[in-house]
Amino acid sequence: MSNMHQARPDRLRALLFGPVVLLAVAALAVLVFSGLFLVGRFDASAQFREEQMIAHGIVKKVNDFGARSIPQVNWDDAVANLDRRFDPDWTDQNIAAFLYTLNGVTNAFVVNSAGQPIYAAGQGRRAPIAIFGAFAAPVAAQLAVIRAAEAQRGALRKVEGSAEMIAVPIQQSGLAAVGGQLFVVSTTLVQPDFGTVAPSLRAPVVVTAVPVDTAFLGQVADRYMLQNLRLRPAGAIDQGRASIVLRDVVGREVGRLTWRPQRPGSAMLGRLSMPIVAAALIFILLSVSFARRTVQYANDLISSEARARHLAQHDALTQLPNRALMFERLRQIFAEARRKPGVTALHCLDLDRFKEVNDTLGHNAGDELIQEVAKRLRQVCRESDTVARLGGDEFVILQPGADSAGASHLTERVFEALREPFDLDYGMVEIGCSIGVTLISGGDIDVGEALRQADLALYRSKDGGGMLATFFEPDMDAALRMRRALESDLREAIATDGLTLVYQPQVDQHGTIKAAEALLRWVHPVRGPVAPGVFVPLAEETGLILDLGEYVFRRVFAETAAWHDLRIAINVSPIQLRSTALVPMLSRLIKQCGIDPAKYEIELTETALLGDDLVTRRNIARLKKLGFTIALDDFGTGYSSLSVLQRFSVDTIKIDRSFVKNLDAGEESAALVDAMVKLARALGLNVIAEGVETVAQMDRLAACGCQDFQGFLVGRPLSASDLRRMMREPV
Ligand code: C2E
Ligand code: CA
Ligand code: CA
Repeated sequence: MSNMHQARPDRLRALLFGPVVLLAVAALAVLVFSGLFLVGRFDASAQFREEQMIAHGIVKKVNDFGARSIPQVNWDDAVANLDRRFDPDWTDQNIAAFLYTLNGVTNAFVVNSAGQPIYAAGQGRRAPIAIFGAFAAPVAAQLAVIRAAEAQRGALRKVEGSAEMIAVPIQQSGLAAVGGQLFVVSTTLVQPDFGTVAPSLRAPVVVTAVPVDTAFLGQVADRYMLQNLRLRPAGAIDQGRASIVLRDVVGREVGRLTWRPQRPGSAMLGRLSMPIVAAALIFILLSVSFARRTVQYANDLISSEARARHLAQHDALTQLPNRALMFERLRQIFAEARRKPGVTALHCLDLDRFKEVNDTLGHNAGDELIQEVAKRLRQVCRESDTVARLGGDEFVILQPGADSAGASHLTERVFEALREPFDLDYGMVEIGCSIGVTLISGGDIDVGEALRQADLALYRSKDGGGMLATFFEPDMDAALRMRRALESDLREAIATDGLTLVYQPQVDQHGTIKAAEALLRWVHPVRGPVAPGVFVPLAEETGLILDLGEYVFRRVFAETAAWHDLRIAINVSPIQLRSTALVPMLSRLIKQCGIDPAKYEIELTETALLGDDLVTRRNIARLKKLGFTIALDDFGTGYSSLSVLQRFSVDTIKIDRSFVKNLDAGEESAALVDAMVKLARALGLNVIAEGVETVAQMDRLAACGCQDFQGFLVGRPLSASDLRRMMREPV
């Protein structure tokens, strides 16, 4: 059971907590991945733009390098010394040395109109023409373009009076790899600047080469703020670096520039990493707490539902399963038994004397006792057994898998546990218990029927006087049916005046009949005489006793109203005494029958006085006020104390038959009877002994001081007319 209740929150935790956290983690992952993806894309596009920019920048740089030679080559002096005639010395000075020193041109050449090199210089000095060979190929490619431009330009003519340069520079610049070194190679057509000297139709060209060295790279890096710029051989791949391909004048790859790209996305990510991590943590914390709260809320719901279920299925006082849950369990057991045959013992328990405790010590004591009993019952039962409280002092134990030996064993343990006195806040209490058991094999029986069988067996146990366990047997059914039949017959007899009353004489020590006790008789039309010891308790259990009691009073009053010489004792059940209808009913009958209550004595049993019932007390007081006297029947068998006798202002005590019978047996009983008589006398009460059957008994009683007697020795119960006849003929 408890497992069942725990399993659900666990499953729920798995059901709710997992997905919520998973969802949060997934959301976070998507966020992280899309963030990283965006950062990557951002970086990639930034790198692409940077590479484009650098590629353009390199072209511009190369052209700029070429442009530095233009003032020396587009010059009237250059036309005079390179074209009109060739002056190597002028060339040494104004081309080789000048451009080397100023612009870092390491190689300079002059190529004539026929495409032949006529001058070569290295590091600013004239050098053998042969070194041109290495530059021949790129220069040839550039020269083709220059010649075409030159042809397009046509002849140059001086514009008189103009201070402007007459020629637009014709130059080609590009990269070339020469002997493992990368150069910016520029080929420039020799042209005049102001036209003081006319060029030939096919002018020579000046070729300059500047190495692409660290200085060159440094300028590029500075210009574009590139980090870690490197010149790498053709085809080189630097992982994670931006790069551009460098091509020579004929479009062949001659190298690569690589550098560490600016990664604005990553940089931003780096700067934002702390806030992002913090946000992610907060997000995770929030979702975990959200999941927790959800689970908590669901748990609360479940536990409040479980609590409600518990309340609905358990007894508030003992926390034991109540009738509803017991029935449910029983149904489960039966359903299981139908699949897998097995025996179940169903015990019905009823506490003896619980009512007394409740009545004398109060309801709190009763509650405490019930709780204690529940505790002890649980202790003697196994885990697999179910102990339920049906209400009041009724309990049920379901003992699955128990045969008759197992069930007997449990009843023994229950008796043993309940026999121990209970130490309540209100004092020590001893109670008993009656048990009815039915053994159910298989599930082919109705739950209600099973309970009825156990109840029937319980009834037998109670009849047996308590601390008994009875197992249900089929013939009990018959007995029950008979009881039911008897009950309805009794009801019928009351309604149809089918009962009679007999009167048993009571005499004084002289044998004079002073009084008579009215005793009820029922002759059943089929069964014959039924003893009052049988039908009176039946009437008490079924509530018929109230009608029966009224019937007795009416009959007795009617039959004896005219008897002025006899007192009449009438038996009243404790249940009648607890009825508020008793006194009004008697008042009515007194008037109807015109009787004098002083002539009548009401016989109560001690149990009627137990429990200090308010109605009982009031009824007794009112009976006395009406004029009835009160006798305490079966005196000595109950618990009456002196205070009870005084409080209820009893007039007579009737020493029980059992003491009279025991008088023959020994001195002890005689002493008891002696004490009872003395006590009564001291309190000013009358004493009568009932059940006197022998002269010896009468003598002993008389010796004890008892003066009134009732019993077979004096006279058997007689009909009213027989009694009257007997009165006329002295005994
Ligand atoms: P009880 O009030 O103690 O009545 C006395 C019982 O003892 C009577 O039994 C009577 O017949 C029997 N008895 C009388 N003398 C002797 C004797 O010498 N020896 C023996 N062995 N028995 C003797 P009965 O009439 O069967 O009544 C039994 C019980 O039924 C009564 O006990 C009383 O408690 C109850 N009862 C009888 N009539 C009424 C009634 O009208 N109303 C109520 N409430 N109870 C009644
Ligand atoms: Ca009596
Ligand atoms: Ca009696």
